[in-house]
Amino acid sequence: MAKIAPPQPVRGTQDMLGETADRFAHVVDRFDAVRRLFGFQRVEVPVIEPTAVFARSLGETTDVVSKEMYSFDDRNGDSITLRPEFTAGIARAYLSNGWQQFAPIKLATHGPLFRYERPQKGRYRQFHQLDAELLGSDSPLSDVELLCFADHLLRDLGIADGVTLQLNTLGDSASRDAWRAALVEHFASHRAALSEDSRARLDKNPLRILDSKEAADRPIADAAPDIDQFLTTEAQDFFAAVTAGLDAAGVRWQRNSRLVRGLDYYRHTAFEFVTDRLGAQGTVLGGGRYDGLIENLGGPPTPAVGWAAGIERLAMLLDAPPPSQLDVTIALEDDALRTDALALLRRLRDAGYNAECIASGSPRKRFDKAAKSGALVLLSLATRDGTKQLNARHDGGERAVAIEAVARTAQ
Ligand code: ATP
Ligand code: MG
Repeated sequence: MAKIAPPQPVRGTQDMLGETADRFAHVVDRFDAVRRLFGFQRVEVPVIEPTAVFARSLGETTDVVSKEMYSFDDRNGDSITLRPEFTAGIARAYLSNGWQQFAPIKLATHGPLFRYERPQKGRYRQFHQLDAELLGSDSPLSDVELLCFADHLLRDLGIADGVTLQLNTLGDSASRDAWRAALVEHFASHRAALSEDSRARLDKNPLRILDSKEAADRPIADAAPDIDQFLTTEAQDFFAAVTAGLDAAGVRWQRNSRLVRGLDYYRHTAFEFVTDRLGAQGTVLGGGRYDGLIENLGGPPTPAVGWAAGIERLAMLLDAPPPSQLDVTIALEDDALRTDALALLRRLRDAGYNAECIASGSPRKRFDKAAKSGALVLLSLATRDGTKQLNARHDGGERAVAIEAVARTAQ
C-alpha cells in the first residue's frame, strides 16, 4: 500500500497530555468544587444549536456573529452553529424547558466552544470555558454572588494575586441609549482619524470603539465621554449596590469606565478579570448582566447575569501542579500469580489507594521497573521455593503501613 501522510490537526485546536492536561483537569475540578460551595447547579446544553440562537441573542454586528461562527447547513437545510459561547444556549434551554418555574436559578457548566479566530498563544478555534449564570433575578446581590464565585475560584486556583477585577456599568437601557448617542456624536467628529474597523463599528456598534486595541483609536476612545453623566438614578443606585456588596464581601475591584462587553445585550454590570501575565490575551474571565437577552430570543423580559472564563488561559496561569503521587506499584515477578495480582489491585483500589502493576517485559526486570515508579509502597509478588510471597518495601510512614495492611488482608 502506498504510504500516506498522517492527518494533521485542524488549525487552532489542541491535543493535551501530561502537564498541560493535568493543569486543564485541575481547573475543571476546582471549578466543580467551588460551584457546589456556591450552590450553582450543573447544567448540560448541546454543542450545536440553531444558528438563530446566537444570531438573535448576540446581535448580528458582534465580532462573534459577523465573522467567528462555525455554521453549516444540516442535511435538511437548517442552519446549525457550533456554540461560540454558553450564555445564548443556556438562555434557549431556559425557555425551551420552562426553567422559569425555578427562577431565580443558579447554573454552571463547562465544555468546548468554537470560534473562527486567528490562532495564537491563548487563542484557539476550539477552546474551553467555565461558565456560571444566574437567571431570573434583578437584584444587585446576584451580581455580587457571581463575582464572589469568580473571585473565590481564582483564589482557590492560587492565581488571584496577578489578576485584577475591572468593573463598569453600562446602565439601564435609558442610560445606555443616551450614552450611545453621545459616543456616536464624539466618534463621528473624529471619523477620519479612526481605524477602518472602528469606522465600521461607528454605524453598527459604537460602544466597541471604546475598547479598541488599535493605536489610532486609543486617544479618541480615551477622550470619549464616560457613562457616568448619563446614568439614571436607578442605574446609579444599582451600581452603588454592587460595589458596596463587593466591598462588604472583601472582593477587590477597580473601576474601568472604558470596559464594554463585546455582546450587545449587556446592561448594568460589566466586568473582566484581567492579568498582564498573558500578553495580549489578558482577559481570563468576563461577564456581566444581560437583562435584554432572553427577550431578544423571544422570551419574556428576564433579568440575568453571568460570566465565562477560558480554561486554557486559567491553566496557563497556574503554578506547575505537583506531580501526582502514586501509592502502590506491584512488581509481578511470576506470571503464574497474575490472578493474585489482579485481586490485590482491586483490594487496594477499593480501599482508595491508586495502584499500578508492572506485568510486562522480562519478569526479572519488573522489580527494578516498579522501584523507579516512585510509589510510596513497592510490592512484589513472586514464588520462592515453591511458595507464594508478597513482599513490601516502604519508608514505614503511617500511610505506607496502612497500605501494606490492606495488601496483606486475607488473600
Ligand atoms: P477576547 O477579547 O480575548 O477575544 P472575548 O471578549 O471574545 O475575549 P468572551 O466571549 O467574553 O471573550 O469569552 C470569555 C473568556 O473566554 C475570555 O475571557 C477568554 O478567557 C476565553 N476565550 C475567548 N475566546 C477564546 C479563544 N479563542 N481561545 C481561548 N480562550 C478564549
Ligand atoms: Mg474574542
